Amino acid sequence: MNKYIEKTLDTLKKKNSNEPEFIQAAEEVLLSVEPLINNFPQYEKHGILERITEPERIITFRVPWTDDNGKVNVNRGFRVQFSNLIGPYKGGLRFDKSVNQSIMKFLAFEQIFKNTLTGLPIGGAKGGSDFDPKGKSDNEVMRFCQSFMTELYRHIGQDVDVPAGDIGVGEREIGYLFGQYKKIKNAYEGGVLTGKGLSYGGSFARKEATGYGLIYFMRELLSKEFKQTFEGKIVTISGSGNVAIYACEKAFQYGAKVVAMSDSNGCIYDKNGINLDVIKRIKEVERGRIKEYADICPGSEFYENSTEDSPIWAIKTDIALPCATQNEISLNSAKKLVANGVLAVGEGANMPATEAATEYFIANGIPLAPGKAANAGGVATSAIEMSQNSMRYYMSFDEVNAKLDNIMVYIFNSCQNAIQKYNLKNNYVAAANISAFEKLATAMIAQGIV
Ligand code: NDP
Repeated sequence: MNKYIEKTLDTLKKKNSNEPEFIQAAEEVLLSVEPLINNFPQYEKHGILERITEPERIITFRVPWTDDNGKVNVNRGFRVQFSNLIGPYKGGLRFDKSVNQSIMKFLAFEQIFKNTLTGLPIGGAKGGSDFDPKGKSDNEVMRFCQSFMTELYRHIGQDVDVPAGDIGVGEREIGYLFGQYKKIKNAYEGGVLTGKGLSYGGSFARKEATGYGLIYFMRELLSKEFKQTFEGKIVTISGSGNVAIYACEKAFQYGAKVVAMSDSNGCIYDKNGINLDVIKRIKEVERGRIKEYADICPGSEFYENSTEDSPIWAIKTDIALPCATQNEISLNSAKKLVANGVLAVGEGANMPATEAATEYFIANGIPLAPGKAANAGGVATSAIEMSQNSMRYYMSFDEVNAKLDNIMVYIFNSCQNAIQKYNLKNNYVAAANISAFEKLATAMIAQGIV
């Protein structure tokens, strides 16, 4: 291993020893940019690796809120402003009980590279809270969002830091957050949050963007690697949230058959193809559990999660699209997918494959589209939302969707260029990391020691 990488990794592991997800994400990037580091020894003098792995700022804060019984609860809020090298800090907010500093840092770190790959001027950040919105009333969610924003507002702004949604933060939460920001600032700064509702500054196709973008990326990959299309392909998609639902919708539009989806309780399998209207009703309208699908759709089955290996990855599929959460594909699950003849894997979620699973796919010649490239359509469309807000203008659904498609093709081509230049075969993970890193290192040197 390159000595500079080895030394940086060693220090990083010591300094962040209680942050396994962050170490995992940083290690993957550092190891995969070795050809670049070997070619450009001046990076060491400029301290590029040390600087790119140290967040510019981490903000943590108390979020007190009152539940419907009048009891006061306290959660912890985070915002990790990792890098504004190429644009204002930008990245989603996650409300989930698993949220901690390690998860926030890994997501913000990944976001720097993802945002760079889009070719748009946006930096990297992430935030959220260990608040669990499941089972909470609308009023409780509103009070929590208001309290969260009462601290966050002083750290964000349309040219400073622009949050959006992620797990547990959808249009409802963004609406409450935006309302509180507006009240505190007494100013309508539309571009301070993205993922807004269409009636007050949101963008057409933002809701669909991450899922659609994933399928556009995989369309390019299938064509390049196999000269094939989605037509007739069997697809399995984990999760049944924002990313999963719209990946499913576009896959069906391209003639694929999606046979399984999941949530944190388990997965449903429908050999006739998932009825997406039923999923949308359960998840988007009723905020229910996916097992209800099996009661509604005859012939379908529900498999409960019993071990750490999600049952969805044991189902035979051509294309696997993990769209739920980090480390949801274990080595064991990767082995099952490969044994069942999976053609390609596309990450809708951030870092859904463990390190060992990623290595296994690559070693077995399975193209794995990494999240930072394949799910970048969401943040790219958020940047398009920011542009529309600045122009005080709306683009049509078709206009935004066409731009999204172009951006996904651009990201795919950037990965291909890195593959050719560094002879990476079908290692899209390394290709995405190298492609973004080159641009970031150039910007860092140009801006001096800041
Ligand atoms: P949602 O909250 O809309 O949906 C998340 C889905 O994943 C739900 O079905 C949820 O089930 C499931 N899930 C969450 N945790 C687990 C778990 N531990 N095991 C199994 N299933 C789980 O989130 P999104 O769809 O927005 O986000 C999904 C992923 O995509 C995340 O990794 C996110 O970072 C990434 N992403 C999202 C973008 C966006 O634009 N929204 C952009 C880029 C990436 P349950 O309801 O039971 O919790």
